[in-house]
Amino acid sequence: MADVHDKETRSYNMSRIKGKNTRPEMLVRKYLFAHGIKYRLHDKTLQGKPDIVIKKLKTIIDVRGCFWHSHKDCKYGDKIKIESIKISERVKSSVERDKLNEKKWRDEGWSIIIIWDSCELEVKRKNSEKREKYLSEVLKKLLQKSDTSN
Ligand SMILES: [Zn+2]
Repeated sequence: MADVHDKETRSYNMSRIKGKNTRPEMLVRKYLFAHGIKYRLHDKTLQGKPDIVIKKLKTIIDVRGCFWHSHKDCKYGDKIKIESIKISERVKSSVERDKLNEKKWRDEGWSIIIIWDSCELEVKRKNSEKREKYLSEVLKKLLQKSDTSN
């Protein structure tokens, strides 16, 4: 247990350096941690080093930014009407990477839960009812899985 705490602290510090462990990711991690879900972070043995890996439930949680990952049918994802070539290239490459990662994970038998930062987590708000509700749905899904795996 102590190790998890250390990891939390360490990754908080890391977030300033590497742009990993971003606020949306931290919101999800804190929620899972508070509800006793054990996970690994940025697992190097898996394609694309997914954000959150719950080995016991064979589940990957990928936290994505609506903007940079071009969330379909989402006002935050569609908002970008290609403002610059640089931005559009970056969005395109993250979308392609997401597809590759997802395929690999599925092929290896992982369940995938994708969480979007702006529309689902309302990441810019300090508190959000929508976020709480959404995360509780995710938790419910995980707990159901853990019931069937036991
Ligand atoms: Zn979205």
